[in-house]
Amino acid sequence: MVRSEATSAELLTRCLECAELVNRRTLERRLFVCPQCGYHFRLTADQRLRLLLDRGSFEERDADLGSRDVLDFPDEPPYGQRLAEVAARTGHREAVLTGTGRVDGVLVAIGVFNFPFMGGSMGSAVGEKLTRVIEHALGERLPLVIVSASGGARMQEGIYSLMQMAKLAAALGRLRAAGLPYVSVLTDPTTGGVAASVALLGDVNLAEPRALIGFAGPRVIAQTIDEQLPADFQRSEFLMKHGMLDAVVARPELRRTLARLLRMLNARAAVRPADDGRGARRRPGARAARRRRDGA
Ligand SMILES: [Zn+2]
Repeated sequence: MVRSEATSAELLTRCLECAELVNRRTLERRLFVCPQCGYHFRLTADQRLRLLLDRGSFEERDADLGSRDVLDFPDEPPYGQRLAEVAARTGHREAVLTGTGRVDGVLVAIGVFNFPFMGGSMGSAVGEKLTRVIEHALGERLPLVIVSASGGARMQEGIYSLMQMAKLAAALGRLRAAGLPYVSVLTDPTTGGVAASVALLGDVNLAEPRALIGFAGPRVIAQTIDEQLPADFQRSEFLMKHGMLDAVVARPELRRTLARLLRMLNARAAVRPADDGRGARRRPGARAARRRRDGA
């Protein structure tokens, strides 16, 4: 009896929004969206990559890159030890995974924040990994997708964390100048320095429903402006209504929407046509255009 109780407890998850108990397998099948209320559970970067990319297409880059305790930050446990512990627990060295993969056949450069790794916070290694994947997109002429889930800058790295905002904005500026598209996907939560830089700088900014998106917390803002904030303040739908997002996309639609967008944007940008198997075949004259460009 004891055993069956333990098993059933493992198989059930309580929805954080409606408090309903949901079968774990049902939840997985529904991409971790509550069947009762539509609440989108937070995903790890690995789950997110499985959800968005074609099976087996992800090729990780800079997996060994990780932050160090450059400031000798006074923390308990010490920052260096904390990094090692989180790395052991999550199986990753940093709070972002970067690389290349295919979204419904379309080759992309991709970065995905991993919230379980210190709240997806952006230190120097996160900024460097993202910058490198943007530079890879530039070099290979690939569209860029970044999925954010982050509490913001990593306080243990102080100014080194904050400067990543400018560094990423500059790298994204080079991508834009090269005419390559960047689609940003904001998920729950996207706040602080990540919201204020890389996450809201997409050519197209998408968000999952009800995701918390903002810079400072609502309490700080309410105190500063001395006003009561609306109930849906800093949620995707509120930002959409106020022109900060291009679309709120439910998780089951995300991959398809992303693929459609990327094909549309790729057709306008000079993305390597051979990289999008379907797009290249479908677009008449693509081969001729490629021959012309290559001078053949
Ligand atoms: Zn629910």
